[in-house]
Amino acid sequence: MAICKKMQSTPGQIFHGRCHCGAVTFSVTGPLRQIPACHCDDCRRLAGAFRAATAATRDSYRLASDASLTWYRSSAQVQRGFCNQCGSNLFYQRDDEDIMSVNTGMLDNPDDLSVGGGLFAQSHPKRGLLPATTPDLDDALSGRFDAS
Ligand SMILES: [Zn+2]
Ligand SMILES: [Zn+2]
Repeated sequence: MAICKKMQSTPGQIFHGRCHCGAVTFSVTGPLRQIPACHCDDCRRLAGAFRAATAATRDSYRLASDASLTWYRSSAQVQRGFCNQCGSNLFYQRDDEDIMSVNTGMLDNPDDLSVGGGLFAQSHPKRGLLPATTPDLDDALSGRFDAS
């Protein structure tokens, strides 16, 4: 858990989660770690963009349904768990750590979690982290199919 701090608000708190199709369901009990946004090439390709994940010790997780959970070895020391039904990219674990991380998008309620910083963002300086001043584009959604 050296990358980002444990979040003070999460010890003992139970977070439920699932993949998109619901075939993989789980819970994880805090403390959870702050979210690093990882821009490494592996995360970029597997997550579709940067990867935002929180983490906890492996014994903090309870897999309620995992028949479609498949593990993919993305590098020599790392496995990533995904749902072979819907393709959701759920988990990350290193062979040499007792920590497993979960993509925050899999959690039913990730609103208490905060971003701790970026990893490998300097490798992609034009992409980088989203600055706090990133404009809110929600109001533009209703007009997204306008030709103009
Ligand atoms: Zn699924
Ligand atoms: Zn990464």
